Amino acid sequence: HAKRQKGNAYCRFSQTLAERAGDRFALERALRRALAHEQFRLHYQPKVDLRSGRIVGTEALIRWQDEAGTWHPPDSFIPVAEESGLIVAIGEWVLREACRQQVAWQQAGLPVVPVAVNVSPLQFHHPHFFETVRTVLESNGLAPQTLELELTEATILVDHAHVAKIMTQLRELGVALSIDDFGTGYSNLSYMKRFPVDAFKIDRSFVRDLPDDADDAAIAQAIVALGRSMGVTVIAEGVETMAQAHFLRGIGCEQGQGYQFSRPVDPDRYAELLALPALVPLLAPNGHTTS
Ligand code: C2E
Ligand code: MG
Ligand code: MG
Ligand code: MG
Repeated sequence: HAKRQKGNAYCRFSQTLAERAGDRFALERALRRALAHEQFRLHYQPKVDLRSGRIVGTEALIRWQDEAGTWHPPDSFIPVAEESGLIVAIGEWVLREACRQQVAWQQAGLPVVPVAVNVSPLQFHHPHFFETVRTVLESNGLAPQTLELELTEATILVDHAHVAKIMTQLRELGVALSIDDFGTGYSNLSYMKRFPVDAFKIDRSFVRDLPDDADDAAIAQAIVALGRSMGVTVIAEGVETMAQAHFLRGIGCEQGQGYQFSRPVDPDRYAELLALPALVPLLAPNGHTTS
């Protein structure tokens, strides 16, 4: 009896595994089709100066709508794209599209702010990464100063020498570099010091429970202090309330990004936001409008 149960359990288990493997390969095939049939889109989320409420940058975030019209969030397909190596081609598409869009906004006479592109570990470590970035900028006639790359700690905490070389090349070209989801990786701070970085993005898990959570408040303050001592801009992700925005501004965090200011939006809507003088008329806690 026990043996039969075990057999059944094994069957269930292997079936699940087979299903999962099938899903994974089906997803991989669907992603290849998505690339070939131009099913990806970029949405844009503003980065806001916490004192003035002005847009000081934007982040491109990938979206995928399949043949059936279903929208898939990046967390549902970026990991498989990374495991299968498809992220290299998808990431190159993202880079090209963000640069093309940046040129279009500039030609439309909109204020020029840097556009940030997320770069996955495999993509960054690909031998042609730097050349790809350089070529895409050049072929679009785009100033490197208007491009920013968001890297994660997972990307930069391996292969020191290679990472430092590529980061230095990118910086010398004029491209800005930021560390995404800051605080969630190994956060080897002395290690961080050795990389040429322009911004730390405080992960939204540390922002969510501000201002009440004392631990998160201390972490946010520590990251801001670190940024300041290193001459690195600090931006908070996932700002959903004015209370969070006020707290962050109070501790000296320069920029914020989050639903309080805007969700990621399509390029047309983003162009409308960019034309506004400020996203939120930021009110100081004492009720005075600040500028
Ligand atoms: P990320 O780079 O840390 O991007 C921030 C994510 O937080 C985005 O989710 C954004 O929509 C979401 N977000 C922004 N403000 C708020 C807020 O106030 N509250 C909450 N709850 N969420 C907020 P999204 O667009 O689903 O992207 C998820 C992740 O997928 C990104 O995290 C990034 O790691 C990855 N990703 C997105 N686009 C690309 C891409 O083009 N290439 C690569 N390699 N990864 C990408
Ligand atoms: Mg990002
Ligand atoms: Mg992030
Ligand atoms: Mg994140």
